[in-house]
Amino acid sequence: MNQRGAAKALHKPIDPKLFTWPSSNPRLLGSRCNNCGTTSFPSQTSCPRCCSEDVTPCELATRGTLWSFTIQGFLPKSPPYAGEETAATFQPYGVGYVELPDQVRVVSRLKVSSPEELEIGMDMELVFEPFRVDEDGAEIISYAFRPVA
Ligand SMILES: [Zn+2]
Repeated sequence: MNQRGAAKALHKPIDPKLFTWPSSNPRLLGSRCNNCGTTSFPSQTSCPRCCSEDVTPCELATRGTLWSFTIQGFLPKSPPYAGEETAATFQPYGVGYVELPDQVRVVSRLKVSSPEELEIGMDMELVFEPFRVDEDGAEIISYAFRPVA
């Protein structure tokens, strides 16, 4: 692999349909129904509320509020989970619904793993981080939310 190819492969989105990448200001990608206004994440080709296929892709807000959460206390089943941890290296992490001003709730890993640091209704912001390294040495980027400092 040449230098350029190596550099290009350094960071890859976990799924190119989930967020804009590469970008200096990456955003989650949803879809908005032009018939009833429902916003979906991940983006859909038809509206889950009214079944209209008149939907438009849209970029979602990067801040919202914590709607609900739990702490994932054991290694999720793989697949679908694509992390590199083993039962021995696994660390619990927060998982939550973040309600965005776009009137959509996004399921997300949270940067906080202690329930004492999380409160329903608190302000949350979107972050991007390496999730694992693939077989080519590229960092696979995923999204998460963290409390606004
Ligand atoms: Zn609709």
